[in-house]
Amino acid sequence: MTSPDAVTLRWQELTAVFGGTFDPPHLGHLQAVRGLFGCPGVRRVLVIPSAIPPQKSGITSTHHRMEMARRCFERPELPDVQVDPREVLRAQLRPEAPSYTFDTLLELRREHSLLGCVVGADQLARLDTWHRFPELLGLCHWIVLERKPDGGHLAREALRSWVSSGLLRPDFSTREGTRIGIFPTEAPWVSSTAIREEIARTGTPPIAALPSEVINYLKMHRVYGTTRDTR
Ligand code: ATP
Repeated sequence: MTSPDAVTLRWQELTAVFGGTFDPPHLGHLQAVRGLFGCPGVRRVLVIPSAIPPQKSGITSTHHRMEMARRCFERPELPDVQVDPREVLRAQLRPEAPSYTFDTLLELRREHSLLGCVVGADQLARLDTWHRFPELLGLCHWIVLERKPDGGHLAREALRSWVSSGLLRPDFSTREGTRIGIFPTEAPWVSSTAIREEIARTGTPPIAALPSEVINYLKMHRVYGTTRDTR
């Protein structure tokens, strides 16, 4: 993964934080995580499944999503990727409280010297609807992935509007000194919603969109109405 940003962003020993609903985790997520190690300074990736996503409803049980995330991301060839259960554990203590990224980043700042929060460009464009925006931007650096098909354009538009309104400096840095970098990704166009819809229609998980470990889990536990006899 290369980008002109890589020249200007001098991040070192960065822990990348990749949060999501992962309902289910798919090859877009997996490819995005692999590619993060090509971003400047990224040494490890924490994948953090959201227990109670503030902006989504009707999601699959946390148990299934955690299990699928472990099968998707924790693999021998990715020793520096870890699925982190902190939002799930927090929800066990406070089941009524949404899983806010703001709270997670505050916690992680106490444990890691340099953090980069990862979002797809679609999420960046909606970041101003997240809890404690714009303070959120100053908590850590931001790695924005140009999610296909139109991600780069969306992300740059959002950033330019924040520069115009004075939230960001022209180099996309904040008053607190954190930076936002946009990076291309090899991640294919895939979405969890499209996968769930296809399974609901056909009973079969799309093999081109999911790692085999997740497909096996879906079949075993019949998640989303997957039938066991699919190939
Ligand atoms: P849904 O379709 O249900 O909204 P999703 O496929 O976007 O789900 P999430 O778990 O919400 O999956 O995504 C977690 C993070 O991964 C988000 O920041 C999202 O933008 C990013 N992401 C998801 N799919 C891709 C992809 N194909 N390429 C790059 N980034 C992605």
